[in-house]
Amino acid sequence: MIRVDLHTHTNHSHARDSVREMFEAGQAKGLVVHGFSEHSPRPLGYDYPVEYREHLASTFEEYIEEVRGLKAEQAPRGVTVLLGLEADWLEDEEAYIREMLAAHDYDYVIAGIHFLGKWGFDASAADWDALSFEQKCSHYEHYYRTMKKMAETRLFHIVAHPDLVKIFSVNDFRRWLDMPGSMELIREALTAVRDAGMAMEISIAGARKPCREIYPGPRILRLARELGLPITFASDSHATEHVAWNFEELARYAAAEGWTESAYFTREGMKSLPFLD
Ligand SMILES: [Zn+2]
Ligand SMILES: [Zn+2]
Repeated sequence: MIRVDLHTHTNHSHARDSVREMFEAGQAKGLVVHGFSEHSPRPLGYDYPVEYREHLASTFEEYIEEVRGLKAEQAPRGVTVLLGLEADWLEDEEAYIREMLAAHDYDYVIAGIHFLGKWGFDASAADWDALSFEQKCSHYEHYYRTMKKMAETRLFHIVAHPDLVKIFSVNDFRRWLDMPGSMELIREALTAVRDAGMAMEISIAGARKPCREIYPGPRILRLARELGLPITFASDSHATEHVAWNFEELARYAAAEGWTESAYFTREGMKSLPFLD
């Protein structure tokens, strides 16, 4: 049974429920490690159609304090609460990201690639529907090239949803995977992730999204296993009912490739817990 969920959001960004409510939902699912990974502030110019920038800016310090408070409260009970962040990786904003990450003592930082250039690509199916297959392929390639650059900064602990770029075009993405060079590009990105001492997230959120497939899909999962990458488990929950949602399926999916433990990170470094009992 998976007892760690490292990817949960709160009402300090665009999620519905509070730190306390998300934590209690995790307790009801038997979590012994609950990682909070709120979205990060972003520089101006990187915007979603529905933007939560100002709300996050005004409550971000509260997020930090609430998670720290919960962490201190739960430690004597043997429950590990982690202060994390899902930081947007923006390849032209490394200085901003470095400064933002240095502002707090996070237990871990997840790198979320949601932007290619200034385009938040995971917000609108219509954006993708307007593209030709060739244009989509160039975005898939850009996504993995920027993942490699992200890992090379050594600023992060975990790569989030490692094929999020398929969200609105999964059939074309699979077609791209079959083309010469595609898997090699992914191999280079995941090798950089491994060499940076990072883990790869396996996220059930993909099963709830239009692609209807766990992030990452089977071919990329197999490649990650071959490369010897540690894994983390993620619900990417934005509401209590999704905390640790369908983790039984996630456990089967990872176990079928041979993993028996999932990683998590504290200020002391990487730790792991078995999930096959
Ligand atoms: Zn994300
Ligand atoms: Zn997330």
